[in-house]
Amino acid sequence: MQKHKRIDPELKLLVPPYGGALVDLVVEPQERAELAQQATELASLQLSPRSLCDLELLAVGAFSPLRRFMNRAEYLSVLEHMRLPDGTLWPIPITLPVDNAAGLTGKRVSLRSPSNHLIAIMEIEEIFERELELEPQMVCGTCSEDHSLVAEMRTWGKYYLSGSLKVLELPQHYDFPELRLTPAQVRDRLEHMGNRDVVAFQTHKPMHRAQEVLTKRAKEAVGGSLLVHPVVGVTRPGDIDHFTRVQVYKMLIDRYYDSNSTLLGLLPLAMRMAGPREALWHAIVRRNFGANHLIVGRDYASRDNNSQGQPFYSPYEAHELLSRYSREIGVQPALYDDLVYIPTEDRYEQVTRIPEKAKTLSISATQVRNDYLAKGKLLPSWFTRPETAAILAKTFPPRCRQGVCIWLTGLPSSGKSTIAEILAILLTEHGRRITMLDGDVVRTHLSKGLGFTREDRDVNVRRIGFVAAEIARHNGTVICAAVSPFNSTRNQVRAMAGEENFALVYVNTAPEVCEHRDVKGFYAKARAGELKGFTGVDDPYEPPQNPDVTLETIHSTPEQNARKIVDWLRQRGFIEPALEEASSNGSAGSSQSGVELAYSLRPWYASI
Ligand code: ADP
Repeated sequence: MQKHKRIDPELKLLVPPYGGALVDLVVEPQERAELAQQATELASLQLSPRSLCDLELLAVGAFSPLRRFMNRAEYLSVLEHMRLPDGTLWPIPITLPVDNAAGLTGKRVSLRSPSNHLIAIMEIEEIFERELELEPQMVCGTCSEDHSLVAEMRTWGKYYLSGSLKVLELPQHYDFPELRLTPAQVRDRLEHMGNRDVVAFQTHKPMHRAQEVLTKRAKEAVGGSLLVHPVVGVTRPGDIDHFTRVQVYKMLIDRYYDSNSTLLGLLPLAMRMAGPREALWHAIVRRNFGANHLIVGRDYASRDNNSQGQPFYSPYEAHELLSRYSREIGVQPALYDDLVYIPTEDRYEQVTRIPEKAKTLSISATQVRNDYLAKGKLLPSWFTRPETAAILAKTFPPRCRQGVCIWLTGLPSSGKSTIAEILAILLTEHGRRITMLDGDVVRTHLSKGLGFTREDRDVNVRRIGFVAAEIARHNGTVICAAVSPFNSTRNQVRAMAGEENFALVYVNTAPEVCEHRDVKGFYAKARAGELKGFTGVDDPYEPPQNPDVTLETIHSTPEQNARKIVDWLRQRGFIEPALEEASSNGSAGSSQSGVELAYSLRPWYASI
């Protein structure tokens, strides 16, 4: 990393960093060697991906004037007044959560990346408890766990640590190293472009024609340079991965923008999705990178709704907050509404400025996924550049070639394994490659040694979920049959596998029927007191609240139930249409080969 010295505002074109100088927490090479030696003796703290992003941006000065994770006074002042105790406007807490702070006071600890690389040494000066209600309310404007950050906050440790930082090594990024530019590097390149005014564009989505038009117009309006500054740290769960997005940005900047006045840099920021406060924070961060304008669209940094379908922020709240403080932070908002396409004029315009009666076209992000990518349909060229359409099509195969996890839940002996085995055969016949993860079978290898306490059963379910998510991610089909009695754990595995590629199947067989079947004799053992905490006898089963498919097993045969699941998958596009037609013509040969293939699966699940 290039070291950066204090910037003299007199000599430079660009807006000076927030607070006057860029913070640089990276130590000189000689001190680094000494500290690395000392670190071997120190307790280690492994950072979450989010905390690592925060640490990196502290280290390179993107959060100037901050030099450390906040102490309690700073934290409370930011929550309540959006200001640091010295009055500097700062809207988002930058804090380091830990589960267990016992014995850490006054200690030095080494901070390590999630993969255990030594990043920094921290001299702990303060440990304090998080404000569990105040923080989400003030930062996100809600305590509802429907908000992605609020839900995540519930999983953070109870304490925050603060203290001085010495950074030995910035986190190593092997992907797109040429685009990983520090504030000093970005400033340097922008200075060379020779424009005083710089407008930054923040994004965590692919850029289509609307965003291209928007950024070009904003650049023209400020009469300066454009900094395309996508976030590649932590974004909203479910966002398109940054590898795909960066391919799109790179291609666009190379082919469709003026290289003399446009710069692409990747920002390893951990987004909070906190709407208005987020916008203000992004503006301050972009000022540290040399921008004095930030493009702010409708619903900035939050398109999420709560469970009643209401948005968390009003569409222009971010506009308003940034406008109110723009003079103080030295960053002007470039305010824009959504752009839509007017086909008769072959141009884009803000929705608020559409000529009367003009026909307009737009495609939402959900439509991109469901109506185009999932169906293998190429996105139209009025909507996105053909190269972008091709990149997205390559990363997101149509749904019939995407992975899927079918998760059967129900009481012991409800019929999960029986239905799952038939389902495996039917899906193999439809050309899908199947992995079966049966709760009982998994206990003989992957989860060997785990018992039946709530904790152990949850661990078993999460292990199955982890493997299932990997299989689905690699476009495989995985059928999981596990009692999985708790809603929260089922929700976790759904999130792991990905909402869109997960089917929760509830095998709803009455407890007395299951006990009567008692396939493995567990109910009898539980009744005899030989098995403790057995689901359905002396441990609860929480029926799923919103299963995708519910099956009953008294009047429906296992085969009928398996076919119901196939129907559900077909409706969602997970079955290849051509193969489906071929197999519904029903040649004996094809179903025969399906059966054989399914039987050949047995060594598969034994060997996982
Ligand atoms: P689980 O995997 O849920 O513990 P199993 O599939 O191992 O349950 O056992 C279910 C038992 O119930 C099997 O012996 C199966 O033959 C029987 N059974 C009877 N009717 C049905 C049905 N309609 N669906 C599934 N299983 C059924």
